[in-house]
Amino acid sequence: MSYRFLIVGAGFSGSVLARELVSLMDCHIDIWDERAHLAGNCYTSEDEETGIMVHQYGPHIFNTDKKEIWDYFNKYSPLRPYVHHVQAMHKGKLYTLPVNLNTLQQFFGKKLSPEEAKNLLEAQRDKSITHPDNFEEQALSLIGKYLYYAFFYGYTKKQWGCEPRELPASVMRRLPVRFDHNDNYHLHPYTGIPEKGYTDFVKNLVDHPKINVTLNRKFTTLTDAGSDYDYIFYTGAIDRFFNYEFGALSYRTLRFEREILEGTYQGCTQVNFTDEDIPYTRITEHKHFTPWKTFDKTVIFKEYSSEAGTDDILYYPKRLKSDKEKLERYIKMAEELKNVSFLGRLGTYRYLDMQHVIQEALEFTKMFREALINNNTAPIFLKFLKK
Ligand code: UDP
Repeated sequence: MSYRFLIVGAGFSGSVLARELVSLMDCHIDIWDERAHLAGNCYTSEDEETGIMVHQYGPHIFNTDKKEIWDYFNKYSPLRPYVHHVQAMHKGKLYTLPVNLNTLQQFFGKKLSPEEAKNLLEAQRDKSITHPDNFEEQALSLIGKYLYYAFFYGYTKKQWGCEPRELPASVMRRLPVRFDHNDNYHLHPYTGIPEKGYTDFVKNLVDHPKINVTLNRKFTTLTDAGSDYDYIFYTGAIDRFFNYEFGALSYRTLRFEREILEGTYQGCTQVNFTDEDIPYTRITEHKHFTPWKTFDKTVIFKEYSSEAGTDDILYYPKRLKSDKEKLERYIKMAEELKNVSFLGRLGTYRYLDMQHVIQEALEFTKMFREALINNNTAPIFLKFLKK
């Protein structure tokens, strides 16, 4: 039997899923995406004036510790090894991030051996917090108040629009402190940038006679999809799927102020502005994503974060306590549906990186296929949804 599937969303989840499904089973797939381009928030395109590959929705660095995920990406579009360097601007001075021995030496104004640095932080960290329950507690228990207020408090407040103590501790755990001089932002052994941009990866994934992509096509309700499909895979926002019945889940959206300038602006891809009085969170200079190319001009993005309304482009799921309660209710509703599954950052309301999205789409397809073969119900969500 040949199946007909609808995938809502042509981002990483939807495109990997589509390619895997057509490779594993006899099916025809329609993909709808409401935007005018592929690749969701990973969309990259070459700037017409400068020729620079611009990450239109903010900086994306592909990094993974799994060779198979690296190889999978490379199969569809070549990745070039790339090392991401981030500077933090605090009170008019630049420091290297993530916090490492250089940062500590710069910040405390003295040379520190790894042992001395460990002892210093041990003395500064808040040892009364034994089970950190939120971002702030996690930070204070790891690095103490001086580093926290210099590098994390202001940035996080601007980025998330709330007090850091309202955020999950897991957000802070993305940036561990290092007691060496390594200022490579990503420690995963496989870190790179697609030579031809992220859109090329997605374009090649969906380039298949049995996959048909329709852009500028919004999915509104199940009725809108009609009865043409045997199964629907939804990678849009889960609260929107249910017409916000229990209220909207909170997200941050971003706005970018673009400038084209002569020469080079800041000498590295990303500078974070960690003080609250600077209204933007970071400046990205896109030419540094492709250090193998040279350009006379440069493109920079100043990035501003704000609370997302339901018509805005969604970026970061906040996952506040109130969100998690709403999410539980949406999950229950989803579990009552037949023949619909939810995937990806928006479909499962999690702060996922690109490599995790690919990995989950691959795993999901295998589970889905097995369920079909064994005549079982396909998974509505992946097993690790609530991670
Ligand atoms: N963060 C911070 N200061 C920084 C960089 C990051 O406080 O200079 C915090 C902030 O809350 C941010 C989180 O750490 O949302 C994760 O940072 P990451 O660089 O992984 O964010 P992304 O690139 O995904 O926006």
